[in-house]
Amino acid sequence: RSALVWFRDDLRLGDNPTLTAALTSGLPVTALYIFDDATPGPRALGAASRWWLAQSLKSLAADCTKIGLPFAVRRGSAKTMVAEAAEEAGAEAAFWSRRYSADLSNIDAAVEEELSAKGVRVESFNASLLREPWEVKAKTGGPLKVFSPYWRAANTMGEPAAPLPRPKKADVIAGPTLGGVEIEALGLEPTTPDWAGSLREVWTPGETGAVEAVERFLEEGLKGYAENRDRPDMEATSRMSPRLRFGEVSPRQLWHAVERAKEEGMATSRDVEKFRTELGWREFSYHLLHHFPDLSTRNFQERFDAFPWSPPKPEHRRAWRKGLTGYPIVDAGMRQLWTTGWLHNRVRMIVASFLIKDLLIDWRDGEDWFWDTLVDADHANNAASWQWVAGSGADAAPYFRVFNPTLQGQKFDPNGDYVRAFVPELSKLPAKWIHMPWEAPGEVMRAAGVTLGKTYPEPIVDHYVARDRALAAFAKLKAAS
Ligand code: FAD
Repeated sequence: RSALVWFRDDLRLGDNPTLTAALTSGLPVTALYIFDDATPGPRALGAASRWWLAQSLKSLAADCTKIGLPFAVRRGSAKTMVAEAAEEAGAEAAFWSRRYSADLSNIDAAVEEELSAKGVRVESFNASLLREPWEVKAKTGGPLKVFSPYWRAANTMGEPAAPLPRPKKADVIAGPTLGGVEIEALGLEPTTPDWAGSLREVWTPGETGAVEAVERFLEEGLKGYAENRDRPDMEATSRMSPRLRFGEVSPRQLWHAVERAKEEGMATSRDVEKFRTELGWREFSYHLLHHFPDLSTRNFQERFDAFPWSPPKPEHRRAWRKGLTGYPIVDAGMRQLWTTGWLHNRVRMIVASFLIKDLLIDWRDGEDWFWDTLVDADHANNAASWQWVAGSGADAAPYFRVFNPTLQGQKFDPNGDYVRAFVPELSKLPAKWIHMPWEAPGEVMRAAGVTLGKTYPEPIVDHYVARDRALAAFAKLKAAS
């Protein structure tokens, strides 16, 4: 008799309520991960996420070995694989952490049915959110569609529980060892070409990497977070998003860690408050996804269904994806995304606004690109945030608020250091001109070695013309609704 732990988006040992419940059940424990690309329905992982997943699984496998927990990886339909594994392990109970996108929770329901029919008990836990998405409610009982009341309501529910300790060898009674496949055999990592070199330089996926990254953030980034979190030229945010996405760290670990940092004088109350509010936005996205399962494909505000998007011009879409729009902050952002799999929040907003409003391309096109290229591509956050920028979402930025990429660059990257880091062909331009090279005097451009149209593109659209076009499109929508 044994307990089967099915790891999914909770790739950690510390503060893992699912693992802790299995280990304290008194049963020997066997752990499993299934790479399910066989069940039809769920959106396939993007390329950057696949790379992250492979690294995170290797790290989890090594950590399980260290504590003597048998861990196997299999590939195939979850419904078949979990039932088979439960039978092989002689499991009387299966434990897993809940998932919140409808296509994945439908799979979980089907697996549960299959296991129950075989007499295997299922226990599921919340390992990735501060609150269950359905727990926070409007007074009327329905979903909350505006962030501030959502977050106020969530905060009246008391302090999130303290994190659970990381299990040690002595806590484990090992169950049977299951056969499985090598993680390399899942084909998650690129081979030819191996484009992941720049990701490897920036990231150390896995729980150990996550714990170190949290400590670094507490020591170096949290102080001043409230003031500097909008500055892409500074290392002022936590970069926890891929860790949270794959569950290498839990939000409640972060919630409590920042308080500890404040007590040790490493941050102010304002920094802690602001950071927790950002975790709140993540919670709000999951609340929305729970209540509106089509968030990544359908306009939250239905009136946007009639929005007159342009058919995407291939050359515009390509210029945006490659960071060749001629707007330095947009190009720096898109190249940061391509090389590192991550993008600063302020710049996500700028590049998304550029696609949606300057190029008039449907937000879903951009959401899809982010899904493929972000290491933190997240079912809830990506969809909710794209809709937020598009103006079609819940509590969204009004459509008529169009970001001016030049002014945004000057405000949030005042010395141009962020642009210099990712657009080397502009690196010699002085700060005064770096966000608008088309305005720079000829001698400045010559001294910096920049020739528009040759060494760096001319702007692919005139922002002011594009802005008027977007506002006219929005006016049509307003008139129609
Ligand atoms: P920090 O500032 O350190 O914040 C800590 C954590 O809070 C983050 O890791 C994240 O989990 C959460 N958070 C922060 N800002 C937001 C926000 N605006 N909305 C929701 N949660 C937030 N985030 C993703 O995790 N995955 C995505 O796929 C994703 N796609 C986005 C697409 C667009 C167009 C935009 C505008 C934003 C998107 N975001 C997404 C939200 C946000 O940009 C990232 O979470 C953040 O930049 C991650 O960096 P960080 O971990 O250093 O954030």
